[in-house]
Amino acid sequence: MSRLILKNVYKRYDNAEKKWFGKKKALNDFAVKDFSFECPDNSFIGILGPSGCGKSTTLRMIAGLEQITDGSIFIDDVRINNLLPKDRNIGLAFEDYALYPPLTVYDNLAFNLRAKKTPADKIKAVIDKVAPLLKVDELLRMKPSALSGGQKQRVNIARAIVRQPGLLLLDEPLSHLDGKMRQTLRQEIKRMHREIKCTTIIVTHDQIEAMSLADIIIIMKDGELQQMGTPLEVYDSPVNEFVAGFIGEPPMNLLKSVIVKRETGFFFTFDGSDLRVKVPERYLPLAADGKKVTLGVRPIDVLITQADTSTPVAVVVYENFGDERRVSVRVGEGHLNITTTENVAYKNGDTIRLDFNSEKTHLFDPESGDVIK
Ligand code: ATP
Repeated sequence: MSRLILKNVYKRYDNAEKKWFGKKKALNDFAVKDFSFECPDNSFIGILGPSGCGKSTTLRMIAGLEQITDGSIFIDDVRINNLLPKDRNIGLAFEDYALYPPLTVYDNLAFNLRAKKTPADKIKAVIDKVAPLLKVDELLRMKPSALSGGQKQRVNIARAIVRQPGLLLLDEPLSHLDGKMRQTLRQEIKRMHREIKCTTIIVTHDQIEAMSLADIIIIMKDGELQQMGTPLEVYDSPVNEFVAGFIGEPPMNLLKSVIVKRETGFFFTFDGSDLRVKVPERYLPLAADGKKVTLGVRPIDVLITQADTSTPVAVVVYENFGDERRVSVRVGEGHLNITTTENVAYKNGDTIRLDFNSEKTHLFDPESGDVIK
């Protein structure tokens, strides 16, 4: 187990412009900017963000495979900026499981330990312990060419942990697997983490993977940390519109709105739509006639109601997924998505009335995108 700390870490690739060919990416663009976080001993951290946001770069800097442009990385209070990868006590499992083809699974697992002159009986003891955790004990005599994609992924992760690292780094380790296999291996990784007690970081663009595996999620955008928190914190209390729209499937509705004052109170209104939604009591202290806000509400928190307290809106799309139904209605130029378990089928053009679960609405500043508390 190790405690990892990143302090104001920056990364700028000197060849950034070359890599981007004609795309004119400025040389001084940072792939990672002012990135700081702390992973406590034995924690499971998920770094999540869209493609190109700097997840792999961050992991590679922690592993020592990429130079840091500025800032510091500490493992157990030792600054490791200039330490060689082999001296960082780190286990790595990357997306492309580069197993050695001529070697058996056992020999692949043993490779690094043999290089460190670990005695054969110790190697056997650790492989005997790790192999069942990732269900590779039946595969030990096979060569990589005889393994399925899922089996290779398992061996890849097992190989990273037989080294008994203080820190385990996983970069999209399940990316080549189909949905069912991903779910199985996800559960195995979770069990394995509980058993081996090793501080683990997983990098993924798959929010389900991050939310189900990690105790702490870090969300990145354009090289910057947006929010760090438990899966529930980032889902329930997003700090800005980006996190709100990124976490959750289907994503949170984010509607541009103007608050208006009527005799009966304050209402959210939407350009080009008759829809009016009463401003919940908790937002009244910041409500003002004409104030512009972005209103965030998850599809599950938009309720279809029979009450005639709201203006009817027209159904544009209706989808039945069996256990839930998704309805999309037009609001001005945009759409509002609703997820419901109610077993009513709608046709295009049907009108429905809506209510919002006011406890679960979020307000964002339309300029900065930051949450308004
Ligand atoms: P993905 O999910 O697609 O793997 P990511 O979030 O892991 O993306 P990175 O691979 O860390 O993102 O890339 C961050 C930025 O750094 C991108 O703009 C990328 O093009 C750039 N970049 C990454 N590697 C290099 C490199 N070797 N040379 C130049 N630029 C690079």
